[in-house]
Amino acid sequence: MGAIDLPAVQAALEANARLYIGGRWVDAVDRGTFDVINPAQATLLAKVAAAKPEDIDAAVRAARHQFEHGEWSKMNGVERGRLLYRLAELIDRDREQLAMLETLNLGRPLQEPTILDLPMAIDTVRYFAGWADKIEGRTIPTPGYFGRPTHSYTVREPVGVVGAITPWNTPLMIACWKLAPALAAGCTVVIKPSEEAPLTTLHLAKLVEEANFPPGVVNVVPGLGEVAGAALTRHPGVDKISFTGSPEVGREVMRAAADGFKRVALELGGKSPQIILDDADLETAVGGVALGLFFNQGQVCAAGTRIFVHRSRYDQVLQALAGAANAIRLGDPLDPGTNMGSLVSLKQLERVSDYVRTGLGEGAKIVAGGNRPDGPGYFFRPTIFANASNDMRIAQEEIFGPVGAVMAFDETDEAINLANATRYGLAATIWTRDVSRAHQLAARVRAGAVAVNGWAPIDPRLPWGGFKTSGIGRELGWNGIVAVTEEKVITIVL
Ligand code: NAD
Repeated sequence: MGAIDLPAVQAALEANARLYIGGRWVDAVDRGTFDVINPAQATLLAKVAAAKPEDIDAAVRAARHQFEHGEWSKMNGVERGRLLYRLAELIDRDREQLAMLETLNLGRPLQEPTILDLPMAIDTVRYFAGWADKIEGRTIPTPGYFGRPTHSYTVREPVGVVGAITPWNTPLMIACWKLAPALAAGCTVVIKPSEEAPLTTLHLAKLVEEANFPPGVVNVVPGLGEVAGAALTRHPGVDKISFTGSPEVGREVMRAAADGFKRVALELGGKSPQIILDDADLETAVGGVALGLFFNQGQVCAAGTRIFVHRSRYDQVLQALAGAANAIRLGDPLDPGTNMGSLVSLKQLERVSDYVRTGLGEGAKIVAGGNRPDGPGYFFRPTIFANASNDMRIAQEEIFGPVGAVMAFDETDEAINLANATRYGLAATIWTRDVSRAHQLAARVRAGAVAVNGWAPIDPRLPWGGFKTSGIGRELGWNGIVAVTEEKVITIVL
């Protein structure tokens, strides 16, 4: 556990377990709370205020007021950028505490948020701080207006109040993906974190307060999805809903947003393929495939869970992947020797266990894992299925756990057809030494992000989002700014 002071983390956690609305920390209107657990021990971690529709209304009003009349509405991009840089510094200062909170709340090995989520969150906030004073318009030549010359130009204006709804799997990082571009563009934000994992987003609110953002620019309202999340999607004071989560809830969000014609961005699930061609460097490929399967206990939207291997290398890859799965050390997420922690909840453990039973029932064969270890906590062993086919449920539905299916192909065309035969289209990886094949295949995969010889190289500078059921719209990069702005055209008849 190193230098981290667990009692101090616990105390901070209790102090921050309220709603952050209009720059104040408040209880829910009915003083209701929900339990947040430590899934690695199956124990209670904190009781957090559960926002009700009235609380969501207060948060949206606070955000609306700042957007229309507050100090924030008059602030220029340079000033907004400075505040964002300050926020990035504060996240950086508290990175160990935040990584620890993520581990306690999610059961993830501490090294995971330490090496990925925290650096990514900080980088994202810095990256968008840089955009704040560079959001430019265009001048567009036209033939004129009834014979008179014109001068037409565009400006990008903030879309307004953004309602951000986030999932539990990488909560801090995704909160920063939504918060940073919105603030850079001049929007105000109401964030509803997942009820499974609200703690780091609450700590982020503390840092927003410390950075001195005007009250109401950022509001954090933990609560149940069907109560607080639904109230946010319905609220007429919200201009845009930015949602990351499951397709089932995404569909609800889109329906609710339709009433007021809210803008909607949906980052949904995935069932991403990893294709190993016959010329791949197998050692690198197997390591990368294992990472794509087991990182964050497989609870990753971009998890590469459908593994298509050229038949000539199938046995070798299967054996190596089973070896990699068996070598993973499950255990206490705070122990530096642990490579895999627990799943996020009992519900998730039951979901993963059900899918493994389904896979066996469908005729697939387990070559590693397939069950949970004895003892407390919601652990599940890293699992590899052989004898799977792409039409099985385990190859079509998002399991969101450490479970992969390895399938063989003969022709490259067949691999691409199999990779695309899914309702999802978030990410894909191709393992090959042949740069020409890599480009040709990358062009044919229907997914928002294709990686060659590396799994899911996500970066705040690169657009992120899915084809098909994996979502609508793109986050990050310049697209992140486009997503939270409206382009207005102004024409002067000269
Ligand atoms: P979820 O859909 O159950 O919940 C997501 C959020 O929606 C939570 O905050 C929840 O409280 C809220 N919610 C639930 N019901 C709601 C309703 N009726 N109205 C409004 N909000 C509601 O998803 P999850 O289990 O938290 O996360 C896992 C899912 O997220 C997976 O499908 C995963 O692939 C996806 N995900 C996608 C990305 C991406 O970038 N594409 C990233 C991470 C996770």
